[in-house]
Amino acid sequence: MTDPGTTDSSPPDDARRILILGGTGEARALASTLSESGIGFISSLAGRVNDPRLPVGPVRIGGFGGSDGLRGWLQSNRIQAVVDATHPFAATITRNAARATADAGLPLLRLRRDPWVPGDSDTWIRVPDLPSAAREVAARGGRVFLTTGRQDVGVFAGIESAWFLIRVVDAPTGALPPHHEVVRSRGPYDHASESRLLRDNDIDMLVTKNSGGPLTSAKLAAAAELGIEVIMVDRPAEPDSAVVSEVGAARDWLEALLG
Ligand code: NAP
Repeated sequence: MTDPGTTDSSPPDDARRILILGGTGEARALASTLSESGIGFISSLAGRVNDPRLPVGPVRIGGFGGSDGLRGWLQSNRIQAVVDATHPFAATITRNAARATADAGLPLLRLRRDPWVPGDSDTWIRVPDLPSAAREVAARGGRVFLTTGRQDVGVFAGIESAWFLIRVVDAPTGALPPHHEVVRSRGPYDHASESRLLRDNDIDMLVTKNSGGPLTSAKLAAAAELGIEVIMVDRPAEPDSAVVSEVGAARDWLEALLG
């Protein structure tokens, strides 16, 4: 049952009922909850980061080969339902999950954390996508804290008018802007350390995707406190599906589905 080019530590087929598309804290929390409830599941990771945080229980790692590959995998592994708990900006796998489950006639639940919303002291410039964020940065210049992730750094590579503090989990491999420093770390982050980082680097603009959730939100409060502008990239549109934002609600949905 192991896919070529992927790793799979799954139990025998009869224990596999739910596929959790993961790579997020919510997906790991759902795996923990299901492992206690006796619902059989397998988690799937893309394999993007070295040394990923693994959920409890069986895990497979690697792409499926598009929506057709995913549909085939669901059918050959006798999956009964899919929970798409991927990151709000992982638009391709979310699209593929919607198509594959529709084609296979399987229930799909989207577990997606709520977006951040600006408070009174926040100064957000909302943009629809990363190229728009790059245009805003290029027009303003200055010292930028870039937290959009390794895969998106290349969008900013041509900007000469700004200096970038680029925070990533794994080192970026593609093109980088000419003036930058890379810091490698993985959240969660707290308010005091985020404030210190912004101050020590004389940051005057923060660029972030609207990922939502508490693990990386301290930078927003720190930016607001220091009067730093935030270029906030809005989430991509998603296909229609049943959606919940809390892990408990996803568990309830699965329990109702499986009786
Ligand atoms: P993406 O652009 O939506 O997906 C690109 C391809 O990666 C998919 O077509 C699929 O390959 C594969 N893939 C993505 N998620 C997968 C999963 N959970 N299991 C198996 N294959 C998967 O995804 P992405 O933005 O690169 O994100 C990759 C992973 O990192 C996701 O699991 C996501 O939850 C996590 N993540 C993403 C972000 C972000 O900002 N995008 C942030 C934190 C965590 P095939 O077409 O071959 O199936």
